[in-house]
Amino acid sequence: MAIAIFFISHWLLCVFFQSFFQHRYAAHRMYSMGPRTEKAMHLLTYLVQGSSYLSPKAYAILHREHHAFSDTEKDPHSPHFFKDALRMMLHTKKRYDGFVKGTVTPEPRFEGGYPEWPLVDKTLGQSWWAPLVWVGLYTAFYVAFATSPWMFLLLPVHFVMGPVHGAIVNWCGHKYGYRNFKGSDQSRNTLPVDVLCMGELFQNNHHKFGASPNFAARAFEIDPTWQVMRVLSKLGVIRITTPQRAVYPEPREVARASSGGAQTA
Ligand SMILES: [Zn+2]
Ligand SMILES: [Zn+2]
Repeated sequence: MAIAIFFISHWLLCVFFQSFFQHRYAAHRMYSMGPRTEKAMHLLTYLVQGSSYLSPKAYAILHREHHAFSDTEKDPHSPHFFKDALRMMLHTKKRYDGFVKGTVTPEPRFEGGYPEWPLVDKTLGQSWWAPLVWVGLYTAFYVAFATSPWMFLLLPVHFVMGPVHGAIVNWCGHKYGYRNFKGSDQSRNTLPVDVLCMGELFQNNHHKFGASPNFAARAFEIDPTWQVMRVLSKLGVIRITTPQRAVYPEPREVARASSGGAQTA
């Protein structure tokens, strides 16, 4: 029971902070917060993601490239250019490492506007020993609470939780599921209620409405991270700064349909 609670909590919290902090804040600036709140969120993101913590700067640059070049050869992680998710993620990691170490120079338009904290992002995030400390802590928890040997099969997932979520979102979100909106890329909405990746699997909605902090667009879709953000906004912890909201059908299609020119739903 303790292992199940630990695994599920770590899974959901890791993907929540990736969606909330690295994606919607660092890459897209969908909301603002005070400098002390930002530091607290930055630290919380590191503590939750532990051994697989992602630098907000490198994440933001990589992700802005993904939006600009979605499903073309210049997309850093389109599933349509790789045989399997592992090869796609290894390619993504190489480019991510290049941005972290400064050996790859991004286009200027992809830079800036993300939080940087050298102590967390470089001293801890890039050290060889900090990830080992986290691996030791996860292992100690399993040694203390696992009640069956098969449970140890779950342990490596904790070590690479961030890349596991990245692989699921980037592979499935551009390959499997339904589309609400036509577009030049192959993005899909994989789950109507995204319980696995806290809203990140509404890729089709998100690529259409890139500035909408709510990734859900239709009545039956639920984006859990947006629900948390609404509460944080009401409490005054964050301030939603982008006015765009995902809507279905998209307004242009409504206009065309009402003038009798469109057959699309
Ligand atoms: Zn995005
Ligand atoms: Zn995408």
